[in-house]
Amino acid sequence: MLLEARNLHVGYGDATAIWDVSLDVDAGEIVSVIGPNGAGKTTLINAMAGLLRCRKGELRFDGADMTCVRAYDYCGHGIALVPEGRRLFVKMSVEENLELGCYLAAARAHRQESLERVYGLFPVLRDKRRQLAGELSGGQQQMVAIGRALMARPRIVLFDEPSLGLAPTIVDDMFDIIMRVRQDGAAVLLVEQNVLKALDVADRAYVLEQGRIVSTGLPADLLKQPHIREAYLGV
Ligand code: ATP
Repeated sequence: MLLEARNLHVGYGDATAIWDVSLDVDAGEIVSVIGPNGAGKTTLINAMAGLLRCRKGELRFDGADMTCVRAYDYCGHGIALVPEGRRLFVKMSVEENLELGCYLAAARAHRQESLERVYGLFPVLRDKRRQLAGELSGGQQQMVAIGRALMARPRIVLFDEPSLGLAPTIVDDMFDIIMRVRQDGAAVLLVEQNVLKALDVADRAYVLEQGRIVSTGLPADLLKQPHIREAYLGV
């Protein structure tokens, strides 16, 4: 497995937000984590990105123990995050935002090639490369956030609610982009409230409720479970 979490506990202050979570992502896979508001999806993905410390459990990436690695070194190991809400520098240009993704020397050495790859995936960003990121539409800003992650030449991209706040007409495009990220060679871990879409693109999925994994399996099998159908699809 590329990313392996074993019995992770993560929290804030005295409060524990996720308990005993075990999850794997293999190279080339798209793995989705679905769950309601407050289930702990952001906490989980931030722990995978090194932004939150694990209190207990193991986190391995390509066999290496990540629990002692500092947050800013996760990127150098090949883990990139597309955070909830995109977190762009809105007063900087599109290209300046993209370049922030390749601040590490190893990635910077491939700056031009990576930029071409990102512009190949998102031609609209090439046209708007000198424009301020804050002037772009929500969908285009999400492309910049994904492009910035890809500039680091990651082996896995962690997506936190990529469809949140996007117009319904471009939500489908966002999931197409996630599949293109995988075709481009990176594995994907996706946390999403858009259950149908998240299951549609995934090879495997986990259901997180109240900080615990309550179910896991192939999307088609999860969609047959009465609890999933009632709680997430209203049928
Ligand atoms: P949402 O879809 O609403 O973002 P989520 O599934 O991503 O929800 P988290 O944001 O991970 O869930 O929250 C999980 C739990 O941790 C919640 O009970 C939340 O109140 C709590 N929590 C999240 N961030 C913090 C924080 N910075 N300090 C304290 N508690 C927090």
